[in-house]
Amino acid sequence: MSNQPLLRIAVQKSGRLFDASVALLRDAGITLSNGSNRLLRATASNFPLEVIFLRDDDIPEYVEEGVVDAGIVGENVVLEKQKNVEILERLGFGHCRLCLALPKNSVYESKTSLEGLRIATSYPRILSGFLGKNNIKAELHDISGAVEITPSLGLADAIFDIVSTGSTLLANGLREVETVLESQAILIANHKLGDAQRDIMQRLLFRLHANRNAKNHRYILLNAPNERIDDIIAVLPGIKSPTILPLAIPGWSSLHSVVPENVFWDVLEKLKAAGAQGILVVPIERMIV
Ligand code: ATP
Ligand code: ZN
Repeated sequence: MSNQPLLRIAVQKSGRLFDASVALLRDAGITLSNGSNRLLRATASNFPLEVIFLRDDDIPEYVEEGVVDAGIVGENVVLEKQKNVEILERLGFGHCRLCLALPKNSVYESKTSLEGLRIATSYPRILSGFLGKNNIKAELHDISGAVEITPSLGLADAIFDIVSTGSTLLANGLREVETVLESQAILIANHKLGDAQRDIMQRLLFRLHANRNAKNHRYILLNAPNERIDDIIAVLPGIKSPTILPLAIPGWSSLHSVVPENVFWDVLEKLKAAGAQGILVVPIERMIV
């Protein structure tokens, strides 16, 4: 294997994105020789991939410089670092938002209430961009951690920080007043991947898409008298027309279709009302459209 081209992908070495990043690769059928987060790198035994474990803050720069070909990192980090990388995919985990928050009892009417405030943050570039766009001048304090305690220490009038549930804000007597960015983990790549690396990336994306489509759909099987088939087809939002197979009982058929996950409960109710019986809903393991 040693002379074959590899795609080098950076993953957070420990922290909130580690488990889901490794799971994403595992679900794509990629087996890492050692998944331990204490090690710096792992090679896949069944796919031309090498995983390099890094601090999330370093990933955009390493990808920009081509030290690694690709990376999995929060969109918040990519936007803050302002590195020139290609964004390939939003990955559907690591959801959080970057918010402005003020002490519970302070006055906030609109964005202009931020004028002149001292705002503590670890995301000065994203915040500057937001303030600039809204023509607001404020005093930014660039702090690397524990941003949420700065107002109670008298060091800031407001904060701009990552929020996922809001409980940390509440515990510090703060309330959210503006959401500036909705973020999740994304797959980024170097702009000038070699041909071999680009091919491997395409293979990886094919697998990621097959998994995502599968997760977002259900397979539905049902029985119905033949005279109800038209009504049933009318409520099925399948990717193509449903499969229809005759049952052993004369005058009855079995219908099979694929239904988007986000509507399948509604569809089930309508199917029942349209005369469907013996409805089965089955998860899909992989789906290529
Ligand atoms: P590292 O040691 O790699 O620098 P870190 O402490 O900067 O790690 P984590 O707290 O592990 O980073 O968060 C990694 C990413 O997870 C964030 O950049 C963000 O995209 C996402 N995330 C999701 N929810 C949260 C949250 N509640 N707090 C912080 N980050 C979150
Ligand atoms: Zn970090």
